[in-house]
Amino acid sequence: MNLLAGIFIVLLGLAFGSFLNVCIWRLPRHESIAAGRSRCPACGAEIRARDNVPLFSFLFLRGRCRDCGAAISLRYPAIELATASLWLLCWLEFGLSVQRIAMAIFCFFALGLAAMDAETLLLPDAFTLPGIALGVIYSAAICDDGLPDRLRCAGLSLAWAACAAALILVIRGLYWLIRRREGMGMGDAKLLAMIAAWLGPVNALLAFFLAVVSGAVYGVILLVLNTRPKIRTLRQVQGGLWGTRLPLGSFLCAGALYAAFEGGATVRWYLDLFR
Ligand SMILES: [Zn+2]
Repeated sequence: MNLLAGIFIVLLGLAFGSFLNVCIWRLPRHESIAAGRSRCPACGAEIRARDNVPLFSFLFLRGRCRDCGAAISLRYPAIELATASLWLLCWLEFGLSVQRIAMAIFCFFALGLAAMDAETLLLPDAFTLPGIALGVIYSAAICDDGLPDRLRCAGLSLAWAACAAALILVIRGLYWLIRRREGMGMGDAKLLAMIAAWLGPVNALLAFFLAVVSGAVYGVILLVLNTRPKIRTLRQVQGGLWGTRLPLGSFLCAGALYAAFEGGATVRWYLDLFR
């Protein structure tokens, strides 16, 4: 019975991962996620239903378009596998069933935003703003001491989201004063607000700390290897320019996913150091 449920969760995760791939491609380009079938970005041919089976179609087609033979991005099977793995982890980790489903939704949003920032340096409002709203609703849902308590939890979640956005905006302002150019984007502020709305202030700070440290390590590695990240904003793609910004949002999402599962244990370990 448990094995069947596990297989069902994995299949569901693969299907939603496939839908997430559609969001990752279309939202930064301001295309509707409801309109029409997906097309091959190389030749424009519509993807047939039988070539749209998560993971298996990629393996069967050996990662190439059936029509033109252009390589299909490894991101497609990677996102499908990652969604299925994270959903299985949510199912195994969280006893409370509301928390289980809520964390699966959070993983979906975090994974999608990580991929969008890595590919386009954009964190679309279509993901961050509903993400903040869902985080507030989730915070109210897990407070079960009557309506006044639920309202208090929702208000608190919203307040932490505002503090998180303010933190990024202050750093952004200071950076601009010193360097006279933009460091973190507005998308990063909304993303950290979403993380704080869902996970609370301590885990949001942990995610931020992990993102800054891992982003700095990644930056140093790039400097040592003397390469630039192969990311271009859509504007840069159109202008034929290469970007040099690091996708901070991707690191924030990775930190948030870590905090969602291991944040409590990590914070306890840290506090024990001072006993
Ligand atoms: Zn093609």
